[in-house]
Amino acid sequence: MNTLTFPILKLLADGKFHSGEAIAKHFNVSRTTIWNALQHAAKLEIAVFSVRGRGYKLPQAFTLLDEQAILSAIGEQRAWFNLEVHDHLESTNTYLMKKLSSGQAHASCVAANLQTNGRGRRGRSWQAGLGASLTFSLLWRFQCGASALSGLSLAVGVALMRTLHSVGITQAQLKWPNDVLIGREKLAGILIELQGDMEGPSAAVIGIGINLNLPTNIKQQIDQPATDLASASSRTMNPNELLGALLKHLTQILNNFEQQGFAEVRDEWIKHHAYHQQPVKMLHPDGRETLGTVIDVAEDGILLVRTAQGDQRFSSGEISLRASE
Ligand code: ATP
Repeated sequence: MNTLTFPILKLLADGKFHSGEAIAKHFNVSRTTIWNALQHAAKLEIAVFSVRGRGYKLPQAFTLLDEQAILSAIGEQRAWFNLEVHDHLESTNTYLMKKLSSGQAHASCVAANLQTNGRGRRGRSWQAGLGASLTFSLLWRFQCGASALSGLSLAVGVALMRTLHSVGITQAQLKWPNDVLIGREKLAGILIELQGDMEGPSAAVIGIGINLNLPTNIKQQIDQPATDLASASSRTMNPNELLGALLKHLTQILNNFEQQGFAEVRDEWIKHHAYHQQPVKMLHPDGRETLGTVIDVAEDGILLVRTAQGDQRFSSGEISLRASE
């Protein structure tokens, strides 16, 4: 890791040209050292324009994650959280999962300006980029056992919807079990990893990725339609405010979940489901497809689908829902 790469990128976050000479002077190093550091940015797939006579520039300005700004956006509940902001992590979930067994505190939140090896469900990957995405994970400890956490990922989706509504994104919807869509395009994903006994206590690492402003090169790497907040709103989203608001909504949802499970927010979840009473196809891990119509979601998060063979229940583990063409 080149230690100058991120400090230079932070300087370039204003989206303006900075000459190699001015950057070199700022860090008290040679222009070649600056060039080398920016070569490392290229290896991380960060586009930095270099124009002879003008210097270096990022394609667009962006707001960096900032611990103080996030804490102030959380407001009164800030003392609850143990917050870490990293310039670069491979995966915020992997980072917190590793710390889980060594006693990492409840309500630890780890956010990264750049996540380069984000994960989805079942070994799939989550694409993100500097200034393009909000990526973070939250560790939450529960007194109840892992068996009581079956609807947790759906409940987390409700926290995301409440947050998006609070910043004016009212057109977002949920797709069972836990994706956030605008129209048919994916805006955000949730990955929950659990640890602990079936009977308790247990812990969840809740990873969330939200697209802020995806450049074309990242969009091209995603094998399904994707969208971002920049396309959904004329207002520029500040990632620190968004994360603060999310943590507030998550706290409320997770505290209630411990007492009442998914049942408490089930009606709200159904209201936001893009495929409620819609024809769908359920994709099985062996490639089979089941066609049907969504009729309900149960209090443990199981999806009920009416099929030609009768009503079937699907649990989220191995199954993916897709629109029926
Ligand atoms: P499921 O319905 O099973 O949740 P999914 O294909 O959405 O299916 P996830 O594990 O939730 O799977 O998310 C990973 C998938 O999301 C990737 O395989 C890719 O298709 C898509 N993806 C990856 N990065 C992004 C992104 N930044 N924005 C939108 N979609 C993405």
